[in-house]
Amino acid sequence: QLLLYKKYLNKPSITKDGKEVEIFANIGLPDDTDKVIANGAEGIGLFRTEFLFMNRKNLPTEQEQYEAYKDVATRLKGKPVVIRTLDIGGDKEVDYLHLQAELNPFLGYRAIRLCLDRKEIFMTQLRALLRASAYGNIKIMFPMISSVHELREAKQMLQEAKKALENEGILYNDTIELGMMIEVPSAAMMSDLLAKEVDFFSIGTNDLIQYMVAVDRGNEKIAHLYHEFNPGVLRMIKMVIDNAHEANIWVGMCGEAAANPYMLPLLLAMGLDEFSVCPSAVLELRYIMSKLSVDDIKSKLDTILMMAEEHAIEKYMEEYYDKHI
Ligand code: PEP
Ligand code: MG
Repeated sequence: QLLLYKKYLNKPSITKDGKEVEIFANIGLPDDTDKVIANGAEGIGLFRTEFLFMNRKNLPTEQEQYEAYKDVATRLKGKPVVIRTLDIGGDKEVDYLHLQAELNPFLGYRAIRLCLDRKEIFMTQLRALLRASAYGNIKIMFPMISSVHELREAKQMLQEAKKALENEGILYNDTIELGMMIEVPSAAMMSDLLAKEVDFFSIGTNDLIQYMVAVDRGNEKIAHLYHEFNPGVLRMIKMVIDNAHEANIWVGMCGEAAANPYMLPLLLAMGLDEFSVCPSAVLELRYIMSKLSVDDIKSKLDTILMMAEEHAIEKYMEEYYDKHI
């Protein structure tokens, strides 16, 4: 199997009928970059920067962060590197911030919410990201955006960081792309409005599903309700992709669903532009993709989106997969 996939190492990610997409990889720490390159990913679609903040005793400095981001961007040699700003909180803890314990941490003080409150932490990261952007194809992405106002506030901070660097005569890429995660249902529902404010979306299904079906993604007891093929979830994903394309921006997915082989035909049919998965899944996806025809699966999309039960959809997709792969 591995040998079979190896053949796809330096090939583009293209379907049997010629539709090209991008397969990127997710990383947590700069060292993961080796795996990204070894598996032939076309870029990094999600760099979870919170890991730079975890398992230590204090906040990483601007210089430390700058070096980490620059290191990854340099090693990717001009390929895209989507770096997500801090997503602390929820299930990711940072002791030295002494955050108050919360009854519902996934609905609480986390990610962009924390960054817009602790502006000095956010500003340090934005400066480090901008400085590193002079050395590669870095794109910045905000997590957990739930309103347009929140996005605009974060954009304002980025603008201030740019101005500060300019005043100090420090180089950065002034055409750096800015994107946001779609992982909160309110953001998905108004993705038409948000799409006018950013250069790209990345759908975070890990959180989007838990918020849509009201199931804590770590709770084993109700895990059966957390289902990627839930028709509500699928319809929302399609809506986000349509809204992005309507506004002429690209849209990817960096949640676990992007790596599900049975989900792949559906996402291709919906027109997803970029898949960001763990490095070890890149070649398998590229292989499966090469066996699929988008036109064929597209002709079945309406039928699938009218199916009422997640299990029926999953079974349909498994059968589709077995027939074509
Ligand atoms: C997601 O929510 O799908 C995602 C990619 O972010 P994380 O898993 O880091 O919350
Ligand atoms: Mg998330």
